[in-house]
Amino acid sequence: MGTILISGAKIYAEEGVLEAGYVLVRDGEIADVSGSRPAELPDDTLEIDGTSLNLLPGFIDVHIHGADGADVMDATEEALDRMARFLPAEGTTAFLATTITQSHENIGSALENVAQYPNRPGQAEVLGVHLEGPFVEKKRAGAQPESYIIEPDAELFRKWQEMAGGRISVITMAPEHDRDGAFIRELSESGVVVSAGHTDTGFVGMQDAAKHGVSQVTHLCNAMPGIHHRDVGVVGAAFILDSLKAELIADGIHVEEQMLRLIWQNIGPERLILITDSMRAKGLPAGDYELGGQPVRVTEDRAELADGTLAGSILKMNEGARRMLGIEGVTMEDIVAMASRNPARQLGVDDRKGGIREGKDADLILADDNLNIRLTLCRGEVAFEA
Ligand SMILES: [Zn+2]
Repeated sequence: MGTILISGAKIYAEEGVLEAGYVLVRDGEIADVSGSRPAELPDDTLEIDGTSLNLLPGFIDVHIHGADGADVMDATEEALDRMARFLPAEGTTAFLATTITQSHENIGSALENVAQYPNRPGQAEVLGVHLEGPFVEKKRAGAQPESYIIEPDAELFRKWQEMAGGRISVITMAPEHDRDGAFIRELSESGVVVSAGHTDTGFVGMQDAAKHGVSQVTHLCNAMPGIHHRDVGVVGAAFILDSLKAELIADGIHVEEQMLRLIWQNIGPERLILITDSMRAKGLPAGDYELGGQPVRVTEDRAELADGTLAGSILKMNEGARRMLGIEGVTMEDIVAMASRNPARQLGVDDRKGGIREGKDADLILADDNLNIRLTLCRGEVAFEA
């Protein structure tokens, strides 16, 4: 692995913004961040001109099912490879392979596949698994196949975590199915982020869940009751309770524009985590696809089951980030927080991900002011070039 110098870009570094700085990359890591050009460089240094562009830390998508024809539930190395190769074009340099409610066998196969997956250079990194379901609420199933929804089962979870090689980092579950909080407590104490989603609980239920160890809300507003003036529900809990992070699908469809503004105004950059929740049709033409074994119709901007239920998205990380950047008051620093820093912190990988600082992985994006991605580095290797 060689040396790379990115020069002239506006650098959104952890210690502040450098108007036209230099980032030196060596052996896959950020070796130096500086306002001046390094005095000496190896002869074979690859120099990348970032003049008039922004240098951002790579995006981390903690909720993504598929892309480019592949789905995590395909349970093949090729499927994860396809995703890992495709995602740098939207600025994503790391992601959680996200499962869906399915039979024990199918979930088990997907987990074993992730456990065995060898992350490769020059591709986005699989950081672990987001287990979405099957411990969710049928009334709020959304596109989670209802027939496979079951009650929380600690023994089954332990078995799955073992099959996953300990790589399950996030679980989406309905906290009202764990009233005494024993399941939530066990998982959160073991280091798993417990995220409330596909849930029908109310504000009081969320308050209890947060006490038991729930620290996140899955795709805020979707597959949960909306804010009501007699029970502000899960959405209101995400507004009010500072201990909760909130995933957000900022495609303008899962959550419409004015609600995105309301969420921004009430939660802000410290607790929001931008996700795509995309399925396998992302990057492919409109047509007929599948999600969790169900037929899905994909048009130019959305993916739906036969009854019109949204079935994941075809959103790209830079598109969601661009939509948020269009909201009054949102800055590029806020985008870095919501798409890189917060997810890295939430997953406990902020020692090496989620920011531009010496010693961290060289997961970097060069993008224009409208978040068109020009170049992406994954752990110090060029993974995408426009
Ligand atoms: Zn979902």
